[in-house]
Amino acid sequence: MSFIPRLFVHSDLVRDGYAAVDEAQGKYLTRVLRLIEGAPVRVFNGRDGEWDAVIDTVEGRSVLLKLKDLRRSQAATPDLILLFAPLKKTRTDFVVEKATELGVSVIQPVMTERTQAARVRADRLQKIALEAAEQTERLDLPVVHEGKDLMAALEELPTECPLWFCDEAGDDPAAHWGGAEGHAPQMLETLKSHTAPRGAILVGPEGGFSPAERETLRARADVHPVSLGPRILRAETAAIAALTLWQSVLGDWRD
Ligand code: SAH
Repeated sequence: MSFIPRLFVHSDLVRDGYAAVDEAQGKYLTRVLRLIEGAPVRVFNGRDGEWDAVIDTVEGRSVLLKLKDLRRSQAATPDLILLFAPLKKTRTDFVVEKATELGVSVIQPVMTERTQAARVRADRLQKIALEAAEQTERLDLPVVHEGKDLMAALEELPTECPLWFCDEAGDDPAAHWGGAEGHAPQMLETLKSHTAPRGAILVGPEGGFSPAERETLRARADVHPVSLGPRILRAETAAIAALTLWQSVLGDWRD
C-alpha cells in the first residue's frame, strides 16, 4: 500500500461529510505528493477519531476531502503536562517533537532564573507539535502554551496533579554530585507509589535550577523531587527519560 498522508483538520468529522484542509496542506497533497481526486487521505481533528477520506475536489489551491469510514475511535490521552525551560532553538524544537511523540497533553515552556532562551514562539512550536502528532499517529494535539515564569506556571497546574521535579542537584547540595547519596529518590521508585491519573514533569535549563528555585520547589507538598540516575543528562534527554518513565508506570504504555 503506497503512503497515505495523515492530516490534522479542524472540521467536524462525520460519515459522508466533508473536511477542508488549509492551503499548506492542499499544496502538500497536490504539489508535493502529486495526489489527484480519489486519492486516499487519513484525517483526525482531536475530537471525532480518525477517518479514511479521499480527495473529492481540487480547485486551484483549495482541496476538499470526502469522509468515508471511521478508522479509529477517539481515545483519551493521559493528562500529562511537561514544563521545561526553553533551550537553544533547535533543542527546544526537539523537546516539543519528542514530548508530542511521548504523549504529553500540554507543553508549558517555563522561564527560570538560568533559562538562556529569551522567549519562545508558541505558534511555531505548536506547528512542530502538529506535524509530530500527524507522524506519530496521535488522535489529538498537545497544546503548546506561551512561555511563563516558573512560579506562575506552578500556580496554574490543575488540582490533584503531582509535579515530578527532575532535580539534578539532589537532596544534599553539599554532597558531591553523582555520589552514592545526596540525590533525590529515583523517579521510577517514586512513581510506583502514586496512582494519580494526571501528572506534570519539570525539567530545567542547561544551567539547572538555582538554589532558591530548588528550595521553593521542594517546599511544595505537590512537588516530588526525583533523580534520573547517576549522570547529568542534557535537558532534552531528561525530558525524554522522565516522560518515558511516567508513561510506563502511570500512563498509556501499560496494557
Ligand atoms: N546543572 C547541570 C545541568 C542541568 S541539566 C550541570 O551542572 O551541568 C538540565 C536539566 O535536566 C536539569 O535541570 C534537570 O531538570 C534535568 N536533569 C539532568 N540530569 C538529571 C538527573 N540525573 N536527575 C534528575 N534530573 C536531571
